[in-house]
Amino acid sequence: MFEQATYLISSPSYDQCPKPDKFEIAFIGRSNVGKSSLINMLTGRKNLAKTSGKPGKTQLINHFLIDDSWYLVDLPGYGYAKTSKKNRDAWALMIEDYLVHRESLQIVFVLIDSRLDPQKIDLEFITWLGENGVPFALVFTKADKQSVNKGQQNMAKFKRVMKKDWAELPPFFLTSSETGLGKEQITSYIQSLLEN
Ligand code: GDP
Repeated sequence: MFEQATYLISSPSYDQCPKPDKFEIAFIGRSNVGKSSLINMLTGRKNLAKTSGKPGKTQLINHFLIDDSWYLVDLPGYGYAKTSKKNRDAWALMIEDYLVHRESLQIVFVLIDSRLDPQKIDLEFITWLGENGVPFALVFTKADKQSVNKGQQNMAKFKRVMKKDWAELPPFFLTSSETGLGKEQITSYIQSLLEN
């Protein structure tokens, strides 16, 4: 359990982010995947992530200070489907720059809707992470919206697809911000990263 969470700053580019002198963990996913809700669940704060969700702030890199010791980063949702590889917009460049160059970044949690079959947009994004050597874990959201079985089946499908191309699979978490499912697992996982 994290005791204290404070919104710190929103930055338009990675080189304007706070000094990279703290352990850092980022969250990303398609918009509406449940990212704000998950961040609020993990930090035990109802509206923490909404602070950064105000209009005009959505395209920024949002830093939160947790327990005075590490940074939780809320990244704007991605949308590769609308952007060709050649014609990436400023948003994609900002996120990619951050993910590749932010030296204090330890891991990115990629959020995926547990109700859906593996989606091209998510697979493309994690392939990009892999190609660029960015460590990540997968968080399947909104598990309460269907049977736990169904969520697990969709996670298993995702694993099967990944196994074709990946020698090693990342950590997988099934979560619900409504019921708190997965909170303990993610919290312990983050704790173990912090202790190592
Ligand atoms: P974001 O755009 O990724 O930050 O998504 P939000 O956290 O704002 O969530 C989008 C919508 O999905 C909101 O209406 C949330 O209430 C809902 N939502 C998010 N997580 C869950 C969940 O675990 N269970 C259920 N039932 N609804 C959720």
